[in-house]
Amino acid sequence: MSGRLEFTRKTKEARAIHAGWLCEAIWEGKRCNVELTAGRIEYHHEVEAERGGDNSFDNCRATCIPCHRLLTKAFVQAKAKAERQRAVQLNSTAPATKPLPLGKTDSRKAKIGGGVAPRERAVTKPSLPPRALYININQGKAR
Ligand SMILES: [Zn+2]
Repeated sequence: MSGRLEFTRKTKEARAIHAGWLCEAIWEGKRCNVELTAGRIEYHHEVEAERGGDNSFDNCRATCIPCHRLLTKAFVQAKAKAERQRAVQLNSTAPATKPLPLGKTDSRKAKIGGGVAPRERAVTKPSLPPRALYININQGKAR
């Protein structure tokens, strides 16, 4: 871990009471509000420690386990994206890797038990013509 500040037991208790024992995570403007019970409660850093967030009451959110997982995932993804963008700006993206011999992109494949065989590609079916947006119910009827 990177010296992350964990919330104290006191802060966690105070936050859970403040939250009314309901999940504080907010998704698209709506609060989750799932009931939090012992063992089914986690504490989220509203501002992550790496971005200067501390272990204060104000930076603490009592959440249900699924919400905390999603919040953490969103943060990790945003961080990875920022790192990729920075790498592009610095023109330091990783060099393109060579495809593995007999890998998914190779025209040959390794056989179980040894040997090499040509890889059969899935035959793609011709696609159907686009569907009409409406059906003319009067079609073919005399008027
Ligand atoms: Zn929740």
